[in-house]
Amino acid sequence: MKIIACAEARADRIEPVSFEMIEAARSLAGDGDEVIVFFAGKPAADAAVAFGAADRLVAAHSDEAELVPAESYARILREVIAAEDAALVLVPYSASGLDIAAEVAARKGWPLVAYVNAVTHDADGIRATAQMYGGKLLAECQVTLPAVLMVNPGAFAEAVPAALAANKVREIDASGHVRNGKVKLVAVELPDPADVDLATAERIVCVGRGVGDAGNIDPVRNLAALLNAEIAGSRPVVDSGWLPRARQVGKSGRKVKPKLYFALGVSGAPEHLEGMAQAGVIVAVNTDANAPIFNVAHYGVTCDLSELVETLTEKLQAASG
Ligand SMILES: Cc1cc2nc3c(=O)[nH]c(=O)nc-3n(C[C@H](O)[C@H](O)[C@H](O)COP(=O)(O)OP(=O)(O)OC[C@H]3O[C@@H](n4cnc5c(N)ncnc54)[C@H](O)[C@@H]3O)c2cc1C
Repeated sequence: MKIIACAEARADRIEPVSFEMIEAARSLAGDGDEVIVFFAGKPAADAAVAFGAADRLVAAHSDEAELVPAESYARILREVIAAEDAALVLVPYSASGLDIAAEVAARKGWPLVAYVNAVTHDADGIRATAQMYGGKLLAECQVTLPAVLMVNPGAFAEAVPAALAANKVREIDASGHVRNGKVKLVAVELPDPADVDLATAERIVCVGRGVGDAGNIDPVRNLAALLNAEIAGSRPVVDSGWLPRARQVGKSGRKVKPKLYFALGVSGAPEHLEGMAQAGVIVAVNTDANAPIFNVAHYGVTCDLSELVETLTEKLQAASG
C-alpha cells in the first residue's frame, strides 16, 4: 500500500503538522508499504532536507505564487494519487486541509473521515478514532480503502526531520495549475513583528469564553504576570475584542508549544486544540467536567475559573513575599 502524507508550508517554512502526518503514516505502514510525502509550495526543493522519515517525496513548486492555494494543491494531489496508485491520503485538519481533503475525497468518490485522533491498520482496512460534537464524543470508524483521513494536529508526535536522498525526490512544476486555478492567492499577511510572539512563549495563560466578559480578564492578567506568562485567548474572546488578534491561539490564530499552558474557561474545540495540544504541561480549569479540554489536559480542575485565579494569585503573592 502507498500512503500519501500531505505537508503544508506557511511563507517560507514547513508547518510542523507536516511531520505529524509522516508519523501517522509511518504508524500504519507495514512491510512493503511506502510513505510518500506530498508537498506543494515555495521551498519545494529544500523540503527534501527535512522529510527523511518518509520513503519518498513528491514536491510540486510554482513560480506563480509563494503559497499554492488549496484548490490548486488539491488538483495536483489528485494527479499524484492517480500516478502513484495510492490507497490512503492523510491531510492535516487545518484551514487549507479542510478544503483539500473534502475536494479530493468528493472528486475521487472516496470515504473521508475528519477529526481523526488515532488510526490502526488491519486486514479489514483502517480503524480510525474520530472526534464528534467538538470532541465530546469519539467515533470508532471502520474505513474501507482507498480513503482520505483528515488528522487532528497534535494527535501524533512529529517525525524527526532528516535528509532524504536526492533519488527519492520527484519534482513537479505546478505553475500551470496555479496560473489556471480559479482561486488566486492575493497576499500573505504575516504578523506584525512588534506584536507579542506567542509561539516562543514558555508559559501561557489562555482565557476562553468562560471568563464571562472583558472586565474579568484583569485578574487573569495579574495571575499571568505573577507566573511570568503571556496572556492569550480563544477565538470568541478575540472576536469579542477582549484581547488583540495576535493573542489568539488555535487554527486561525497562533500555534504554540509552551512548557506550561493554563486553559481557563476554554472548552477545547478541535480548532483550539490545533494550536496548543503540543504544550508541555496543560492545566485546564472548567466548570464542565465533560469539557473536551480535559482529554488533553495533564491537570484538570472542575471549578469556577475566577475562584482558581483568585486563590492561585493569593498563593503566588504570598510565596513571593
Ligand atoms: C475555521 C475555524 C477556525 C477556528 N479557529 C479558532 C482558533 O484559532 N482558536 C479558537 O480558540 N477557536 C477557533 N475556532 C472556534 C472553535 O470552534 C470554538 O468555537 C472556540 O474554540 C470555542 O472557544 P471557547 O472554548 O472559549 O468557548 P466555548 O466553547 O463557549 O467554551 C467555554 C467554556 O467555558 C466553560 N465555562 C463557562 N463558565 C465558566 C467558569 N465560570 N469557569 C470555568 N469554566 C467556565 C464552559 O463549560 C465551556 O467549556 C475556529 C472555528 C472554525 C470553524
